[in-house]
Amino acid sequence: MRLILKYILLSIILFSCSKDEDSSIDTDFSSTDDSNPPVTYDVSISSTEGGSVNTQSGTFNAGTVLTITATPNDGYEFIGWTGSNEISMEITITVNSNVQLTANFQLIPISTSSVTNNPEEFNYDINKDYGGKIVEFYPNAFYTSDLSQKVIEGVNLALKTGADEWGKYGPVEYWVFGTDKNAALELIDQFCSRRSTLGQWDFNECIARETNETLDHSMIAYQKIGAEVVATNQPRGSAGHNGGFEWGIHKLSSSYPFSFDNLFSDIPPQDDFKTVLHEYFHVVQLAHVYNLSRNERDSRVIPNGAIWMQEGGAEYMANFTLFKLINNGTLNFEQSYGTLLEKMQNKMYNAKRSLDNDCSGKKLQDFKYGDDCSNVGYDLGSWAVAYLINKINNPNILIETFYPSLTEMDFESAFNLSFGYSTADFYSEFEIFLELSIEDQLKIIPTP
Ligand SMILES: [Zn+2]
Repeated sequence: MRLILKYILLSIILFSCSKDEDSSIDTDFSSTDDSNPPVTYDVSISSTEGGSVNTQSGTFNAGTVLTITATPNDGYEFIGWTGSNEISMEITITVNSNVQLTANFQLIPISTSSVTNNPEEFNYDINKDYGGKIVEFYPNAFYTSDLSQKVIEGVNLALKTGADEWGKYGPVEYWVFGTDKNAALELIDQFCSRRSTLGQWDFNECIARETNETLDHSMIAYQKIGAEVVATNQPRGSAGHNGGFEWGIHKLSSSYPFSFDNLFSDIPPQDDFKTVLHEYFHVVQLAHVYNLSRNERDSRVIPNGAIWMQEGGAEYMANFTLFKLINNGTLNFEQSYGTLLEKMQNKMYNAKRSLDNDCSGKKLQDFKYGDDCSNVGYDLGSWAVAYLINKINNPNILIETFYPSLTEMDFESAFNLSFGYSTADFYSEFEIFLELSIEDQLKIIPTP
């Protein structure tokens, strides 16, 4: 045993000696003396996909000291070296043998199992163009600091439910505002940092736009709505899909989803749950026309500005899916939210009331965004979609056929393909349907 140890020590000493000798040869070496070349070694330095190294491969004199730095690309992380046990991204080596070093990188693992809530984190590969289509991860949702855990859990679950029911589209960013202005400004700051980090928007321009209370759909406008609800004790809310196509995302914003906090006793949490589903359905709709120009996109989803399919589709699918999941026990709420029949009956009454008064003479295809009667487009649109779904007896027709077809064809062609007749024929048929008694009308509404 002792002998072996002695031998090892001896060989180490010998090895160091020979090394010293090598370097003395090195120092004494004269460049004109070709007969006595320096000791050199081959150093090969490389990296896997997803990053780079600062030093090139080459042949180096023995004793050369190299500092090698590994740098991951955006969306990747450094996970170690092949050829060295060092774990840091920057290592220093002294060349005294042939060296083969590879810096290893991997995609930052993305969270695919749940909604993530940190604006400084990305649960997707930021270098990839997803085209707003089917993705492998859930939406992101971001909240102001004044919002309760109940709000956060409620919105998260609703987003996850939409993605599970209708497919994961994305990347989705769902920005939720409470009532506190400073908290809203803080979240807007994070939104603008996110845009500027990704090179999508100048930070200051972003702040100027999103904190301008006079602009429609600016982020601060959503905070203002929530603040007014609390100040006036009048329930009101707003949420919307606000684009994001140019950044490769779906950007949505929401005012205070107060029903998750049970702010009003007669408005249970299902109300905001339904709103989130409605908004997520807009993601599904727009995902299929995501890569088209703005005009082309609009002409396919809201032909001639008619909103009944876009809003009626989102509203009916949100309600239908919510009641389906309550009825089959997937979702549990403490308070009752009534039935799909009741909701649809109210929508018909509201629509009829408007049609009998301020909005008289208007037809299903006449309702547009921004006019005083646009609410009727939502209510009658829900009935129009319910009617069409009942007619062909397929509750998934919008998801399976109609919206996927819009990628390739116009509204009219996708309508023909999905429902087997023209919109003109449908509009006349629907006029007759509107004359029926509410009892007869409700016969087309299923108990999901
Ligand atoms: Zn909508």
